[in-house]
Amino acid sequence: MRIVITNDDGIEAKGIKALTAALSDMADVYVVAPWEQQSAGSHSTTLHKPLRADEFPLNVGEKKAYRVSGTPADCVLLAVDVLVKGKIDLVLSGINQGPNLGDDVIYSGTVAGAREGALNGITSIAFSIDAFENPRYESAALFAKIFVKKIIEEKIKGEIYFNVNVPNLQWKSIKGVKFVRQGKRRYVDRVMIGKDPFGKVYYWIGGKPVDSENDETDNGVVHKGYISITPMKIDMTDYDMLKRISQWDIDIKR
Ligand code: MN
Repeated sequence: MRIVITNDDGIEAKGIKALTAALSDMADVYVVAPWEQQSAGSHSTTLHKPLRADEFPLNVGEKKAYRVSGTPADCVLLAVDVLVKGKIDLVLSGINQGPNLGDDVIYSGTVAGAREGALNGITSIAFSIDAFENPRYESAALFAKIFVKKIIEEKIKGEIYFNVNVPNLQWKSIKGVKFVRQGKRRYVDRVMIGKDPFGKVYYWIGGKPVDSENDETDNGVVHKGYISITPMKIDMTDYDMLKRISQWDIDIKR
């Protein structure tokens, strides 16, 4: 079995090391990850400059590791077309430092890494831990191994990706697993305004998340101590709206 692992926190992040170490005894793991921090870069793809991919061993059991001067989506594309020889069975992305809950998936580079895998017809999984400070990667890595085994056992294949969020708890304190839909999360106090050393105003985007807590959604269950699993699709069509507007008559030939 051949697994490609990427992330958006950069190849030197602790999360990708934990994920690689966890999976290396059950598969040939190829790490292809960004050189630098790429969080919230979504599916950004580098077209207007060349990319470099240098070998960068993590020494945690992987077959090979490369750091790429691009984005998570670039990394997966390069892995599929150039860097990894032979069929790739799974693409994993993470373990992200911080959650990817609700609307976060639109912005997330971690989720985009998995989405690029799915776009290439490879089943992919994004893993995130629900904490920016003192993340317990060991809990998420343990679960990654369990979930990958299940995906293989159930013969899940092709253009699908999963968004997995793990609460930041000790393994024994995690309550279980919930299969849920994407929740709603908005941000408040999104723009910090300051002045640079030259007196010029700058804006810094960030903010605090406000979640609509709900037992059927990712943010709802993760905040109650469960691991959330959300299957995701490439097709973003709104089928209800498609049905409605299909009744419209817009005649451009009149
Ligand atoms: Mn990140």
